[in-house]
Amino acid sequence: MSEVSHPIVKETLKALLERKEFLPVCQGESRDKAFKSMEAILSTPNQIHKAYIRMPLANGEIVRIPAFRIQHNNALGPYKGGIRFHESVNEHEVENLSFLMTLKNALHNVPYGGGKGGIIIDPRSLSEKELHTLCVKYVRNFNDIIGPDKDIPAPDVGSGEREMDWMMAEYKKINHGQPYLGSFTGKSVINGGSLGRREATGKGVYFTMRYLLHDYVEKNRTNLEKSENRFAKTTLDHFGRPLSVAVQGFGNVGSVTALEAYRDQKLQNKVIAVSDRNVTLVNRDGLNIPALVEFTMKNKGDLPVSEDQLKEINVEATIESREAILTMEMDVLILAALEDQIHQDNWSDIKAKIIVEGANAPVTQEADEQLAKNGVIIIPDILANAGGVIVSYLEWLQGRETQFYTEEEVFKRLYEKMGETMETILPQYYADPYALRQNAFIHAVGRLSEVLYKQGKLY
Ligand code: GLU
Repeated sequence: MSEVSHPIVKETLKALLERKEFLPVCQGESRDKAFKSMEAILSTPNQIHKAYIRMPLANGEIVRIPAFRIQHNNALGPYKGGIRFHESVNEHEVENLSFLMTLKNALHNVPYGGGKGGIIIDPRSLSEKELHTLCVKYVRNFNDIIGPDKDIPAPDVGSGEREMDWMMAEYKKINHGQPYLGSFTGKSVINGGSLGRREATGKGVYFTMRYLLHDYVEKNRTNLEKSENRFAKTTLDHFGRPLSVAVQGFGNVGSVTALEAYRDQKLQNKVIAVSDRNVTLVNRDGLNIPALVEFTMKNKGDLPVSEDQLKEINVEATIESREAILTMEMDVLILAALEDQIHQDNWSDIKAKIIVEGANAPVTQEADEQLAKNGVIIIPDILANAGGVIVSYLEWLQGRETQFYTEEEVFKRLYEKMGETMETILPQYYADPYALRQNAFIHAVGRLSEVLYKQGKLY
């Protein structure tokens, strides 16, 4: 991942100053000092932990697998964020992702700081037994720095319930008598997880898109029609008609987002394309998403790759290259794969006017600026994909209270929280020239700086 954090930190702080929202209580020279401290705090994590995990493989070979836990900031609560299992993981990427977690939690008023873990491994290359050993050893290596009130890991790309269950079990074994249920979130329901956690990110991603293009417009149409704001125009252009939607990535986030878009009776969307690491499937009249989800569940998560496989499940679609999805004609492009998908070399081919970041940092800084200039609305990662960590928080609460919330209760609380954030951000968004990403950052950094100031950490 390219340098995400540093240029945007400067830009956000400047915007906060311009809008006079940066520490209004703090004047003169102390304001300049606080500004500099804030820049340093945001651009550097509190702690970087690295280990080489010794792993005996089934074939007798011993390998040492690099693993990280990076703790960015804990002013708002314990560090919180997923553990990514992927061959492309690197320290810089985990650091940037930990920074995004700090801002994501601050933005949605979740009482956590930001952290992130990563293991440089393709989890598909290991047997289940090897993967279990890797998870157990990750916990042994980082046991001292994680815990329900210190740092609470969760799933991310390449990890899920199974890995969190294994990790929590190891944490429990090492730390007798600790309130272990809150040590990891994203666990299976039978093992102390929360109903709705698996679907939470995808549901939240769709919720933000619908809120922006429908729910908010319905309530504020007259104001938006009067507004000169270029983004107001894009929003109104998409209101009150069925939307064509494409979803890049068909894992936990993409598949649930696609299903939500498909099932929305009111908007009557057409999900015209979905893609994964192998293919893009296209049908301009709308794909049968439930049939595709069922197929992936039986095929290790992969979409059909041949005419025969499509025929078997009665799905009508043409098969194209995996990159084809990005540059098709459509209204909304949902990016739910990995980072850096839209960059300097392909941004000018993008035809969608609305982009939703289901993944973290899928649009590079350069592409982001160019697209915003053209009036493209990007719902940024920290705003759109926070459903996962919000329901992680609900899981952690349930663990502490030894209570179980119904699925209905979980989704109600999830939507309330995300709705509150949208209501705080959108009026400002349509009133000033900043893009939605800047607005979300301004809000998150504003909250964080106020707390840091009150904690005496900005002198
Ligand atoms: N990995 C997810 C994210 O990037 C979820 C983190 C969590 O639940 O703590 O937001």
